[in-house]
Amino acid sequence: MPPILDGRRIRTVRGDIAPAELGPCDAHEHLFLVTPAQAGDEYDDVDKAIEEARTLRAAGANALVDWTPIGLGRDLDGLAAVSEATGLHIVGATGLHRDIHYRSDHPVRDETEDGLADRFTSELERCGIIKVGASYHALKPFEARVFAAAAAAHARIAAPICVHTEQGTMGGSLVERLGKLGVPPERVVLAHVDRNPDAGEHAETAAAGAWLQLDGPGRTKYWPDSTILALIADLAERGHADRLLLGGDTGRRSMMRAYGGGPGLDYVFARFKPRLERELGTELSERIFVANPARAFAF
Ligand SMILES: [Zn+2]
Repeated sequence: MPPILDGRRIRTVRGDIAPAELGPCDAHEHLFLVTPAQAGDEYDDVDKAIEEARTLRAAGANALVDWTPIGLGRDLDGLAAVSEATGLHIVGATGLHRDIHYRSDHPVRDETEDGLADRFTSELERCGIIKVGASYHALKPFEARVFAAAAAAHARIAAPICVHTEQGTMGGSLVERLGKLGVPPERVVLAHVDRNPDAGEHAETAAAGAWLQLDGPGRTKYWPDSTILALIADLAERGHADRLLLGGDTGRRSMMRAYGGGPGLDYVFARFKPRLERELGTELSERIFVANPARAFAF
C-alpha cells in the first residue's frame, strides 16, 4: 500500500498542490535547455515551449516535472507562463547537472558545499525537486560536492533528490552514497535507468527503496520502445510496479516539433502510454503515471 500522504504537498512553480491534484504526470521533461554539452541543440523560447506543452496537455497529461537545473537555461518564470497558458502543473528544479554541462570557468564551480546548500534551500521556495548528476561509471569531484550540498538542503526541506545517471550506471551506489549523507532511498529518484535495460540490477535498487525512472521512449536510433516496455513488465513482475516513474526527457531542440524536430514533447503520452496500456494494462499505467508521481514528488 502507498504511504499516507497527509500534509504532504507537491511544490509547483505556481504554488503548492495536494498530491491528488497532480494527475497524469510526465515525470521528466525539459521545456528549456542551454548547455555547452549540446551545442546547436539548445532551446529557450517561451512561446515555443507553450506550443509544445499544449500538445502534451492535449494528449492527456495534467503535470510535468522539468529537470533543467541551475545554469542550463532554466527559466522558472517561463515555466510558470507555460503552466498558466496550458493548465499543466509544472514542478521546477533547483540543483545542478553533471560536470560536463558547466564550462571550466562557470561560477558554480567556485561555490562551496555550504554555499550550494544554502542556494538550493532558498530555491526550494519555488522549486519542487533537487537535481544532481553523475558521470558514466564515475562521480567527479564537482558532482560529489553537489551531492553533499543537495543532501544538506534536503535535510532542511525534504524535497526529492532527482539523479541523472549516465546511461543508467551506478544507480545502487548513488542511492547508497545519498543514504550515507542522510537521504532515505524513498526520497531518491534515479533517472535514465532504461538506458541500461537490466531488470535484475534495477530490481535490487528498487528493493532498497529508490524510485526508478524510465524516460527514453521515442529514441528509436538507440533502442525501440519495446525494450522499455519489456523492462517495465519485468520490473512489475518482480514486484516493483510501485517504484516506477515515466517521462519523455525531450531534452534537445531537435526533439521538439515547435522547432521543426521530433518526436515532440507529447510522444510519451500520445504514443508510448497508449501502447503500455494495450500491452501491459491500464492498471499498471495508472500506477506509473498517476499514483507513483503523487508519492515520489510530494514532501
Ligand atoms: Zn533530462
